[in-house]
Amino acid sequence: MEVHEYTNGEVTILWKPNLCAHAGVCVKMLPNVYNPKNRPWIVPENATSNQIIEQVNKCPSGALSIK
Ligand code: SF4
Repeated sequence: MEVHEYTNGEVTILWKPNLCAHAGVCVKMLPNVYNPKNRPWIVPENATSNQIIEQVNKCPSGALSIK
C-alpha cells in the first residue's frame, strides 16, 4: 500500500491515501499542519509532537499513524 511520511524530526506521520476518507478531521484539528491545498499537504513542524499524536489518534479511517 502507498504510504507517505512526514517528519518533524521527533515523530513521523504516516499517511495512507487509500484509507483516507477525506473527512477533514485532521484539517479541522490542526489547520496549520494539514492543508490539502499545499504540497506537501502535511507539515508536522507546525505543531508540537504531542498535538500531532493526539490528532493522529482521532483520524476516523486509520489513514494516519505515527512512527
Ligand atoms: S482525518 Fe484521517 S481520514 Fe480524515 S482527512 Fe485526515 S487523514 Fe484523511
